[in-house]
Amino acid sequence: MIFDCHLDLAMNAVHWNRDLTKPLDQIRLRESGMVDKLDRGNGVVCFEEMSKGNIRFCIATQIAHSVSQNSPLPGWNSPEIAWAQTQAQLAWYRAMENRGSLKQITQAADLEFLLNHDQASCPIGFVLSLEGADSLLDLSFLGQAYQDGLRIVGPAHYGPGRYAAGTGETAGFTEIGFDLLKEMTALKMILDVTHLTDKGFDQALEQFGGPLIASHHNCRKLVDHQRQLTDQQIRQLLDRGAIIGVALDAWMLIPNWKRGETTPDETGVSLHNVADQIEHVCQIAGNANHSVIGSDLDGGFGHEQTPKEVTTICKLNLLDAILEKRGFPEIDRKKIMHANAIEFFRRHLPHQSSVKTGPGSTDSSN
Ligand SMILES: [Zn+2]
Repeated sequence: MIFDCHLDLAMNAVHWNRDLTKPLDQIRLRESGMVDKLDRGNGVVCFEEMSKGNIRFCIATQIAHSVSQNSPLPGWNSPEIAWAQTQAQLAWYRAMENRGSLKQITQAADLEFLLNHDQASCPIGFVLSLEGADSLLDLSFLGQAYQDGLRIVGPAHYGPGRYAAGTGETAGFTEIGFDLLKEMTALKMILDVTHLTDKGFDQALEQFGGPLIASHHNCRKLVDHQRQLTDQQIRQLLDRGAIIGVALDAWMLIPNWKRGETTPDETGVSLHNVADQIEHVCQIAGNANHSVIGSDLDGGFGHEQTPKEVTTICKLNLLDAILEKRGFPEIDRKKIMHANAIEFFRRHLPHQSSVKTGPGSTDSSN
């Protein structure tokens, strides 16, 4: 069983116009001839392939960032348009719940329910996360999102952000970004540090006392880039009980990848490189209690930029044999594939009596 801690499912549906209820070959066929995005026809994710790979749980995102007039980055031209995108994505998740493909996990009991359910007939459980907070017009929107079941926020994405600067930048949190951290603390939400700058990372760890996750985040020691975690940052996350998800975007796995030019075949990038990342985190930790999968598959790239074996998401399960060959005992492999994530959410999702109703809620029980 696999718990994948980062999938942009709704972005693929709403923005890429992919019907994930269809088999992968149909999704690819429908994109033949399309050239609007580099990964057209190369998607590796759909519900059928997730089931084949026994990926029964995931963190699924809402993602839409806003950009200013002169930004070279792709994005929506106002926070309001970005908010509308996230709401379309939420509507898609609801439609997928309605047809029995997905089931949202908003509290610990939902997780137990799915774990105790017959696997074959079971929808895929998802914890909702917001990747990049630009779309929250003000903090009251966080309260609304929380009521819609949002449990994780990663304040930053690529480039400058309204709440925190992201990948490629050097600044940290903005003033409203610090307010966001306070509101997340009040709501007992989980903070995703992925895409924060080094400065933002330090500020987040200082200002936010709640649970931390690095959902799709590799090691700077292995591929030197600011998007990756330093050994020191990994240690800080371990001290805070965080889980760290290995990402399968090829440029984060091997050095000198050039998007649109380098290919998996010519470089040989493989799940062994993914195992290297996992091993590095486990070596720093001295155990396998913090490593998880955060594949990010179809997160704006397809199999033109994944480990060569990963022609569909179901191939994630090949990792198990690779880790076994490296000496990881079965109990540790289970932790990495799913058990660490399940334990994390058991601990940090609300328990029934403590589900808050939003900012200003008087319910302060635990
Ligand atoms: Zn990302």
